[in-house]
Amino acid sequence: MQDDDAPYPGFSAKCPKPIGRLENEPPEKRARLDGQFVVSRRESLYEISLGPLEFFTRQRFAIARRSELVKSYPNARVFSQEISEENGGRHYIVTTLERFWYWYTNQAIRNIYEVIELDKPCRLYFDLEYSKEINGNIDHQRLYEYFIETNISLLKELFDVEVQKSDFLALDSSNDAKFSCHLIGHLTKKDYLFANNVAIGSYTKQLKQRLLDNPPQRIFNADGQEIVLFDEGVYTKNRNFRLFLSTKLGKDRFLKHAMYCTFYGSAESKSKQIFFDALCVPANLSSHENILPDLESPLSRVSETASSAAQQLQPLEYVREGNGLSPFIELEEFLLQMFRRWKPDVYMRQWKVTIDKNKKPIITFYPANCRYCFKIGRQHKSNSQFWAVNVSKGDVVQRCFDPDCRSFTSNYFPIPKSIMEATRKRLNADKEAEENEDPLEILLESKSDKQPCLTQWNGIFDE
Ligand SMILES: [Zn+2]
Repeated sequence: MQDDDAPYPGFSAKCPKPIGRLENEPPEKRARLDGQFVVSRRESLYEISLGPLEFFTRQRFAIARRSELVKSYPNARVFSQEISEENGGRHYIVTTLERFWYWYTNQAIRNIYEVIELDKPCRLYFDLEYSKEINGNIDHQRLYEYFIETNISLLKELFDVEVQKSDFLALDSSNDAKFSCHLIGHLTKKDYLFANNVAIGSYTKQLKQRLLDNPPQRIFNADGQEIVLFDEGVYTKNRNFRLFLSTKLGKDRFLKHAMYCTFYGSAESKSKQIFFDALCVPANLSSHENILPDLESPLSRVSETASSAAQQLQPLEYVREGNGLSPFIELEEFLLQMFRRWKPDVYMRQWKVTIDKNKKPIITFYPANCRYCFKIGRQHKSNSQFWAVNVSKGDVVQRCFDPDCRSFTSNYFPIPKSIMEATRKRLNADKEAEENEDPLEILLESKSDKQPCLTQWNGIFDE
């Protein structure tokens, strides 16, 4: 195929198309899609000099390749690109930062995210947002300044690090309906890093408390609950964080250098400089020696969130996860059939498999567009929920990301035997090809034991 067919330069023609459901592809194609595909266009000598550029359909393959590549290219990184609005699909790009920037600037459409890998030291970063429509009379400037000032005093207090307002780089993609900003902290000239993004989560718990203490103005979400300026959900393992100059797929609001940002003072800033300064995991990471201590040990994190910590502290044998469509076609479709009765346009955003030492596999599904929560008996307006399938018992419970629902677990709902059998087969077939991941993440999200009663599906839809 000639590369002239490519929708935009630098990208082989087959790449931007949605990869689609692997299970629907013929076996030979599936094998190819399941692994890696390299840009087929002939590369220029200049491009080659910057390092390789490769695409992967799965994040874990991309991360494995990056750990290889980093031996020759210290700035090897993983980025993700949204390719399908319908199923939350992404593919993954492994390349050097230098090559990436060259490729990225040649893209007509950019919907690309930095993958903040587990256990990579990273800068303090925030996703700031609130609805302007809901919070009509907000003095935005005051709220933003209060946020920065609270960080400055808390960083001094907790880490004895003296930070200024101009240490925060702000990228903005606000519109009339919503304030939206990515804030990246270069903590002093030494550019102090957190040990990983989960450690930032520990810091932000204290920050949230401080922000709620005495705010100049209070802000609320669509459910009428008071919120803080930053999104607390962006400090999870292998987080995808949208890049400078990128939009969400199908949207037109891209992240640009904010008018109100004082990071560069009066100096003119070049796009390339902003791109590098806005990375959560900085370039030349190995030269960064200033790592802030983690405020919470892993043990304290677990005992705080798990109700039966002792039982749940057992190590996990096997874990995997993915964005978009899962390998558990029958199970996923069964759940979607149920969810569609609440929201016809529901789809699966993410899925995850965990197995504890007692050989109890749990498959968790994270639906998008469907926020029905049994705790409140209706859809949440902004927070989403998730469903955990106990594979050995053949039932599923709903849990919720809403702060008020954190300890909530719904009743158990049964899953038909034939579907569970198909799921177990897929799980076993899949298991052999997989690798271990971090057990802590799973402990944090594992559910508490309760509610032995089963609720029939019909019961809830008949109401
Ligand atoms: Zn809820």
